[in-house]
Amino acid sequence: MDFFGKNVFISGSSRGIGFAIANKFASLGANVVLNSRKSEEELDKAYKSLLDKGFSCYKVLSDVSDYESCVKTFDEIKNVFGEVDILINNAGISKIGLFQDLSPFEWKEVMDINIGSVFNCTHIVSKSMIKNKKGSIINISSIWGDRGASCEAVYSASKGAMNSFTKAMAKELAPSGIRVNAISCGVIDTSMNSCFTQEEKESIIDGIGLMRYGTPDEIAEICVFLASEKSSYISGQVITVDGCMY
Ligand code: NDP
Repeated sequence: MDFFGKNVFISGSSRGIGFAIANKFASLGANVVLNSRKSEEELDKAYKSLLDKGFSCYKVLSDVSDYESCVKTFDEIKNVFGEVDILINNAGISKIGLFQDLSPFEWKEVMDINIGSVFNCTHIVSKSMIKNKKGSIINISSIWGDRGASCEAVYSASKGAMNSFTKAMAKELAPSGIRVNAISCGVIDTSMNSCFTQEEKESIIDGIGLMRYGTPDEIAEICVFLASEKSSYISGQVITVDGCMY
């Protein structure tokens, strides 16, 4: 499996799952574009770590929940590497708490980042993919999008929207030779879950058949498979990677 000459944009890739995906694609020869919104220092560190390995990469600090920022981002990438061949919609945030304590602002913020960004990036990138009659789009989703999580109503709703968007877009883009899939992650060991105490972590692990959190690299492996020719007949799927959660 190699991705030489392929341009891959991974939203939200300064750390966690996004960074593992970027590292994996870059190690297979792709030109990868790292992205994040807040910490320039963290993005720089991620970028330098790939450069140090001799990988081909670029970085853009931009908020993918804002359409105009996305237009500028993809123009910039076009000037550096060319058009994007593989789009990974990974940027996301979570909000944990009772629904009654959630403000309209927080609802909008999660929706704008978790699903608005998917609209923005897909809307812009699919234009050139349709023209080129090829491409792969992979959305990083969550099991809560299907099952629903108590105290994560907005997060669950945003990932549920992502799952149906994946299936709808796969049908719409299939005639143009573009595949669209999602990975529905269980609990993955990243800073998104650093809010849990040791006791809470143990109780979460009690509900996982394989008795551990997943790793970002395990998600990255599925991601490269879904972007590769090995999965050339797979589209419109939401693939669960959760270590057998009860
Ligand atoms: P992290 O919090 O570790 O990383 C999130 C990344 O997204 C960071 O690089 C962050 O950078 C970036 N980001 C957030 N908002 C924006 C934005 N508006 N524009 C650009 N970048 C942004 O999260 P994970 O790696 O854990 O999660 C990655 C994806 O996987 C998310 O979509 C999440 O919902 C999904 N997922 C994660 C699970 C888990 O257990 N970890 C389980 C199921 C799904 P910055 O903060 O600088 O903006």
